[in-house]
Amino acid sequence: MIKIPSLSLYIHIPWCKKKCPYCDFNSYPTTGEIPEKKYIFHLLQDLKQNIQLIKNRTICSIYIGGGTPSLIHPKIIKKLLEDVKNIVPVLKNAEITIEMNPNIQEIKYIPDYCNAGINRISIGIQSFNKNLLKKIGRNYTDMEIYKIMNFIKNIPFINLNLDLMYGLPQQSINTGILDIEKTIQYNPTHISWYQLTIEPNTLFELNQPILPKENISWNIFKYGNQLLKKSGYQQYEISSFSKPGYQCKHNLNYWRYGDYLGIGCGAHSKITKKNGDIIRIIKKKQIFNFMNGEYIEKITFIKPEERAFEYFINHFRIFEPISKKHFSQLTGLNPIDIKNEINDAVLKKYLKKNHTHWETTKKGKLFLNNLLEIFIKNNINQS
Ligand code: SF4
Repeated sequence: MIKIPSLSLYIHIPWCKKKCPYCDFNSYPTTGEIPEKKYIFHLLQDLKQNIQLIKNRTICSIYIGGGTPSLIHPKIIKKLLEDVKNIVPVLKNAEITIEMNPNIQEIKYIPDYCNAGINRISIGIQSFNKNLLKKIGRNYTDMEIYKIMNFIKNIPFINLNLDLMYGLPQQSINTGILDIEKTIQYNPTHISWYQLTIEPNTLFELNQPILPKENISWNIFKYGNQLLKKSGYQQYEISSFSKPGYQCKHNLNYWRYGDYLGIGCGAHSKITKKNGDIIRIIKKKQIFNFMNGEYIEKITFIKPEERAFEYFINHFRIFEPISKKHFSQLTGLNPIDIKNEINDAVLKKYLKKNHTHWETTKKGKLFLNNLLEIFIKNNINQS
């Protein structure tokens, strides 16, 4: 019998001041004024259309991402959150995050966002190095970041995530480590630290920058990891580090194969139905379609034989043992159905197992794609 998991809400704001050359998110450079009121109207319509799917369920976390949601004024965000709460129940102390870019005008909105009900701020700084910022096409300087961080220091307490990247074009070990040291100095509760990858359909794919050699990126990660650990950050996911108790609840829900409803153009949803079906919904990508009231692009059913891979592609990212009971409850599968795949992964030393749990080994974390391949390649037996 399938268990209905926790439910999160993702709200997509698709505009950015300019498109970064490495970005494959569904975001569009602004051309003139953002039609924020009209877009918010459609976000709420989109939510209302999905209401039957999440009937009698409570939202545990909300994430306003994009794009650059901080292009939207706090008054409008406040109204949006109030309207959402009038449509669907939201847990009293739900984690509510907004993503921001390091632009001083927008950063000054933080106190007002907090008054609007936001309780977690995520800022994409990416690097403190002015040359590297230029190389990755960010439209701010290192000096602006310092100004912003000094402004934030004076806000009594905020649950703050800083996004940082490494493996940037021609980055040295020293500049990579300096970035992580500077980030730690500001003492955020959470750091998301990603390696730059060249994604299809991006400007960097067409015009490839010179990336550092594998051993340079690896050393940045290795020494940076040690520094983070020494400074009290726990790595709980491949790219996520937090002070104790400050893991991102919203992301943990994705990785633990929880449910999420995505509203806004290009947003994705995964919903478990009472009858045991698990569905995915993708919303229309283009702003034009979405603001014409055409919200749904595609709905697909996740077949039982696809669920083990789906579950593990998420859960293997986080550094916690996986309970077999949780696997069964959320996928409706019996652990015996994946016996061959598990044994194969144990044999290759990617996984450890006992009666109740599976756990990724150090090797499994390093070769995550190889581990996952086992669950795609082999046919999952249905008993
Ligand atoms: S600001 Fe973020 S979402 Fe916007 S283009 Fe750059 S990376 Fe993409």
